[in-house]
Amino acid sequence: MRRLVPRMAYNALHPKSHPARLAGVPAYLARLAFVMSNRRKTPPSRPPAPGAAAPKPAWRRRVRERLLGWYAQEKRGLPWRGEREPYRIWVSEAMLQQTRAGTAAPRYARFLARFPTLRALADAPLEAVLAEWQGLGYYGRARSLHRAAREVAGKFGGDLPRDLESLRSLPGFGPYLAGAVGSIAFGLRTPAVDGNVLRVLSRLLDLPLPVDKPEGRAAIEKEAQALLPPSKPGDFNQALMDLGARLCRPRRPRCGECLLEALCAARKTGTVAKRPVKSPRRAPREATVFQLWAEQRGKLRLARREENGLFGGLWELPGWMAKGRPEPPEKEWQRACAKHLGPGWRIGEEIARAVRVLTHRKILFVLRQALPPKGKGRKAWLKDEDGAVWADAETLAALPLSNAQRAAIAAGRRGIEEGQGRLFG
Ligand code: SF4
Repeated sequence: MRRLVPRMAYNALHPKSHPARLAGVPAYLARLAFVMSNRRKTPPSRPPAPGAAAPKPAWRRRVRERLLGWYAQEKRGLPWRGEREPYRIWVSEAMLQQTRAGTAAPRYARFLARFPTLRALADAPLEAVLAEWQGLGYYGRARSLHRAAREVAGKFGGDLPRDLESLRSLPGFGPYLAGAVGSIAFGLRTPAVDGNVLRVLSRLLDLPLPVDKPEGRAAIEKEAQALLPPSKPGDFNQALMDLGARLCRPRRPRCGECLLEALCAARKTGTVAKRPVKSPRRAPREATVFQLWAEQRGKLRLARREENGLFGGLWELPGWMAKGRPEPPEKEWQRACAKHLGPGWRIGEEIARAVRVLTHRKILFVLRQALPPKGKGRKAWLKDEDGAVWADAETLAALPLSNAQRAAIAAGRRGIEEGQGRLFG
């Protein structure tokens, strides 16, 4: 035996620091132990070569096994984990589309306490849903939840449909939401590609295509579909998302701790920091919102926006929005006074400017005081109408307003106070 495993060959296979060598174990015995201990191990599957046409089935099998095993042991303890009720799964996934899990968790519990069933959500007025959604942003999600709940109540007897096509027909159910709800709630073998999954797969494949263009997106979705296991597709989708959130993070990914390190093409080629490839970002479009500050007896005039479009259904100071950074003539301000407040109102001083940057827009709020009519016309308009109210502090806190609008109102309040200080100082 000793002659079969010469010491030179053994030493070449084992570094000087190898435990067997340090422990003084005879070379031939150590070699035998080494060979025996590795007989049952499967050789690691290679990661797909960069730009390779399609990963091999063995590679996919290994990715699935490792991810599902890791998820079973290590999944994050989030309030919607293990949830079986489709409505509650839907609410969690709708929130998670644009909101981090840590922020969504307490809001998820609150939302369900207010609207515990799909019927309760469908029966509620939109305004109550928007009010509950305040602070989460992207209010289109809340409007779609509400519209879809009404549609499910009307068309599907109050239960979410269990097939992908019907799910996709509901308001707000794009490929991600339909895939997430379909796989987690109903076990459909369909992928759910969110930002985390895009990042993980683009790195695993070392995809050189921009993931925000159709070609790159299609490559990711194709692989996400091919990777899905025959059972537990919901667990698999969530495992990919968890991996993206915890290890394969946008900056400083923890590759050294990653269960997929040996299978990751970008890790192998040293391109992790360059993946995913994204097209150059366009600067956010500029818009200006001109608004009237009309205050009477401690109440501020607010108007509700139309349901569709930016900030749809939310309340705001009355005014109008324009593209870019125009400076409207005085007569336009005067027209807005008459339109939103009634005859006799006059335009006053500018009291504040505030800039808020959203994902795709940079909005400048310009607030000017509106002065009430004098004499007889003074009381004629002092009433709440459909879509316009005089709001005291309590009503203002309860109505659904965007964070941007609340910041503009706070700037207006400071402007008024400083103006009064100048007046009386
Ligand atoms: S090895 Fe690194 S880049 Fe590859 S999947 Fe794991 S964390 Fe992401």
